Amino acid sequence: MSFNDLGLCKELLTALNDVGYTEPTPIQREAIPVVLKGRDVMACAQTGTGKTASFTLPILQKLHQRSLKQETKKRPIRALILSPTRELAAQIGENVVAYSKHLKLRSLTVFGGVSINPQMMKLRGGVDVLIATPGRLLDLEQKNAVDLSNVEYLVLDEADRMLDMGFIHDIKRILAKLPKRRQNLLFSATFSKEIKKLAEGLLFKPEMIEIESYKPTPDQITQHIHMVDKSRKRELLAHLITENNWSQVLVFCRTKHGTNRLTEHLNKKGIVTLAIHGNKSQGARTRALSEFKAGNIRVLLATDIVARGLDIAELPYVVNYDLPDQAEDYVHRIGRTGRADAKGEAISLCGAEELELLKDIEKLLGKTIQRMNIKGFEPTEH
Ligand code: AMP
Repeated sequence: MSFNDLGLCKELLTALNDVGYTEPTPIQREAIPVVLKGRDVMACAQTGTGKTASFTLPILQKLHQRSLKQETKKRPIRALILSPTRELAAQIGENVVAYSKHLKLRSLTVFGGVSINPQMMKLRGGVDVLIATPGRLLDLEQKNAVDLSNVEYLVLDEADRMLDMGFIHDIKRILAKLPKRRQNLLFSATFSKEIKKLAEGLLFKPEMIEIESYKPTPDQITQHIHMVDKSRKRELLAHLITENNWSQVLVFCRTKHGTNRLTEHLNKKGIVTLAIHGNKSQGARTRALSEFKAGNIRVLLATDIVARGLDIAELPYVVNYDLPDQAEDYVHRIGRTGRADAKGEAISLCGAEELELLKDIEKLLGKTIQRMNIKGFEPTEH
């Protein structure tokens, strides 16, 4: 099947050709026709499946078709895409810009941590598609800088993470500002009880989309566990990076504090490292990500909240410096590698005190992850 068969207009097909997509992913095959038909959607899909294009492409097409019919000077916000994190919002925004390259539509991405005034100025100029984090959207609304009364399409992306991050009240306040008649799309990595409850109040006769074989770990990711004493983890990480000559590795840590200490340690060892976590300014986070993508730094350290949804093309290595508290986060973390058919390697450093977490992860995966010992780093504690 090609994008042609999904009924997308030539401007979008040209843009897809420009970005090099040759065929739709499963979520795109399923969601695009349903959204084009005007149905509400509840989709279970994770980052890495191509979900962003599955909602942005049909929405752009519908906006484009309507704008062809009735050229109006005033541009009200007609599509609102809500994202839990700034990084994900920025990525969705980049995708929207790329896909709408040949359309006469304007989009804007707004999130907190950066000055609000330029965002207010741009909104005044009129935008068709607004991508926003909930907090900043409400700030803008309070300043009367956004009018949400013409929204026709609403997307809640990574809805489960929005609930985890405590955005439910913000979301309810935003929903109250929207017109009653609109098309709603809800994307979530899980269908928990809370998500179902949110969906009940939001969606009208939704089409449920679950990609047929939900594989927690793609086959192309090789996974290993290194059992190691906690006190020797940082030494082992530096050893792995230098011995294997890794040039681009994403490392997950549990805490902001731990992330900072490890950054310092690696930089002292001459391994150029930057960190992104919730306490970093937006400027620092964006800079670190683009330096990493450009290959100017060797290691990017991240905590789970900011890392979810990070899209870095063909990332070869992911290291779990600490095992995550939630087994599901392991799947999200290692999903940063081995994407779009590239091979990837996920290495986890596991201390004796983390064995219970490891058990939970293996239970979720339904398999045992291969253990590997590195000479000189054999654990003494178990
Ligand atoms: P997402 O799940 O939306 O974060 O997308 C994951 C990655 O897949 C992004 O880098 C997209 O640019 C890329 N992508 C999305 N759709 C396709 C496609 N049909 N073919 C190739 N790459 C794609």
